Amino acid sequence: MADRLSMQDPRKQYPQPPFPRQPQPVPGIAAKMDPEPDHGETSYKGSGKLTGRKALITGGDSGIGRAAAIAFAREGADVAISYLEAEKQDAAEVLKLIEAEGRKAVDLPGDITSESWCKTLVEQAVAQLGGLDILVINAGRQQNREDISKVTSEDFDKTMKTNLYAMHWIAQAAVPHLPAGASVITTASIQAYDPSAILLDYATTKAGIVAYTKALAKQLIEKGIRANVVAPGPFWTALQSSGGQPEEKVMEFGKQSAFGRPGQPVEIAPVYVLLASQEGSYISGEVFGVTGGAGVA
Ligand code: NAD
Ligand code: MG
Repeated sequence: MADRLSMQDPRKQYPQPPFPRQPQPVPGIAAKMDPEPDHGETSYKGSGKLTGRKALITGGDSGIGRAAAIAFAREGADVAISYLEAEKQDAAEVLKLIEAEGRKAVDLPGDITSESWCKTLVEQAVAQLGGLDILVINAGRQQNREDISKVTSEDFDKTMKTNLYAMHWIAQAAVPHLPAGASVITTASIQAYDPSAILLDYATTKAGIVAYTKALAKQLIEKGIRANVVAPGPFWTALQSSGGQPEEKVMEFGKQSAFGRPGQPVEIAPVYVLLASQEGSYISGEVFGVTGGAGVA
């Protein structure tokens, strides 16, 4: 494969469907994906944009969160990652990559559907990093259900807890620690704007994340803190193969996009870096779509 940053047709830069059938239980493990996603392990090059910053990333073990974690460390930040115990294998790789940059890696496994854990998570991140400058709220639950009758109260509750309540609990605990110049970044989805029939509960939370972040941005700018939303389209992550989409759709994942392929996590990392860094000094309350051509309204 050509160097990631050399000029080339982006449609052909990464694997295109069809992909092998590959169902996994929740939470999905990135190491089990075929083809393996590019989170920037060998392809992301930093240039000191986040020197000395302290970042907490939820869902930093895999997928989009892992790509942000690697990029932040390469840009000079110390990084704490939150994830589920079952994802230790993925997390260990990320922690190693952060340390390989000479940065501090903070390991914070735990279930964010617990309010008390969310508070402890933030306290631990602040204590072990020695402060907090960048908060990336990225962890998410996505389980497709073909019909409204199949979305149980348990499903609905878990999706709300993971995607909305945890966002509030973590942001609420973090805000008192954030200095002027800090940045909060949430991860919504194109689903907030163009919801799939099979993602009723998930799409609802993603629209909620957009509204919450825009409201929070209005409060935080009073303290010199920015807050923004990233809204991805189809990205090649274990969220999709662990029930986010039906198995058959995973095999064709990204085919519907104008690129004819899914995005790789490293292809969205630069947006997190921009929003986290002082390069984004006039950017707040915005939604950044990275959708493979579909656009966000
Ligand atoms: P991913 O599975 O790699 O990451 C999601 C992470 O969420 C998991 O690694 C896990 O650590 C964390 N998580 C889930 N439930 C948790 C819980 N109860 N406690 C603690 N951590 C928990 O998949 P991803 O695609 O990188 O997802 C990251 C974000 O991107 C999610 O918010 C997702 O909704 C969003 N997103 C993804 C896509 C896509 O196509 N992959 C598209 C739009 C939005
Ligand atoms: Mg994971």
